[in-house]
Amino acid sequence: MMLDLLNSAARPSELTAILKVKLAGQPLKYNKPLNELATSLSDKEFCYAALGKVSRSFAVVIRQLPEDLKDAVCVFYLVLRGLDSVEDDMNIPAEQKAEMLLAFHKLCKEKGFKLDNVGDTEDYRQLMQHFDKVVNVYMGLNLGYRQVIDNICMQMGAGMHEFTTKQVTTTADYDQYCHYVAGLVGIGLSGLFSASKHESAYLESQKVIANSMGLMLQKTNITRDYFEDIPLGREFWPSEIWGNYANYLHEFRDNPESPQSLAALNHMVADALQHVPDCIAYMQMLKNPQVFRFCAIPQVMAMATLVKVYNNPQVFTENVKVRKGLAARLMVETNDMESLTYFLEKFTHKLMGKLSIGDPNYLITKKRLHRIIEAIDETRVNHTIVPQLDTHIEESVLF
Ligand code: MG
Repeated sequence: MMLDLLNSAARPSELTAILKVKLAGQPLKYNKPLNELATSLSDKEFCYAALGKVSRSFAVVIRQLPEDLKDAVCVFYLVLRGLDSVEDDMNIPAEQKAEMLLAFHKLCKEKGFKLDNVGDTEDYRQLMQHFDKVVNVYMGLNLGYRQVIDNICMQMGAGMHEFTTKQVTTTADYDQYCHYVAGLVGIGLSGLFSASKHESAYLESQKVIANSMGLMLQKTNITRDYFEDIPLGREFWPSEIWGNYANYLHEFRDNPESPQSLAALNHMVADALQHVPDCIAYMQMLKNPQVFRFCAIPQVMAMATLVKVYNNPQVFTENVKVRKGLAARLMVETNDMESLTYFLEKFTHKLMGKLSIGDPNYLITKKRLHRIIEAIDETRVNHTIVPQLDTHIEESVLF
């Protein structure tokens, strides 16, 4: 935390934001291993404690959702996290894993269901060891919520199963894989929002743009996580993209500064950018301010991440992250369509300024950035908001 404060020392609005986010964080009583908390907390409290441990960013935005919807989203996240722990665990024999992925949505509804020795990290393993607590809270949710969670978990398990024997090769595979692991989350969340009545029933039917919400986040993570994924043998970049620039995906790690490596990275960024106009259209449909923040904050963070990773050789040699202070500011200040488009526009222009004519994807990237600006302008016409510079936002310290 001290280092984060120092990094933002010249940016007062970031310092305040860091403190605000810190204060809105996990209650101190959750500051123990899940194994210990499992004996002292109620099932529901255990779910929130687990959420704080297994998701760094979502826990904060979930906590501010309307009360009834919050529990459903928390369980939805933990159920999918459970499924993902099975997918990611390389120690489960292939045949057994295939069965578990397909059956996971049913197992989650069986009282007492839990798994020992599954999960890549200690927190994941402890969550799975006490998964019966998640099952109890899940079974206490309204039928409408349960149906959405069951349906999405079933589809995601089937999709993950499909990819246990299939590589991400073409961009179509890439879109398909991202649909299974993230687009379905966007679609499921829409279902939960509609079921809660905080959003219209119509939102649930908007599956294409809900899918794009997930794809934008997932593709940003996959692009940024190159350095983390390669040593673990995880290859999510489609060869249809990186194959234009290398014979093996791991080559970029050895030549981070080479034009070929950077062109591949920038191509991945350009691919993610195509989803942003859909995301803007989706968020424009939201009515509840808390649901809006829940959806908008991860999107604006993803856009900030794309700006940070574009043409950045460090992506190949370390974990590149948005400065904590900027992340905190985005969390605190993204509250409505106006602030969302303000930040998105800033980031789009920043990225535009980084484009180099030597990049083989220069034109397509530029076109996609223009399309984002158009989508932002359309929201202003529709909302009759006069574009203006908000004086409380310090221009010079944004980046
Ligand atoms: Mg996974």
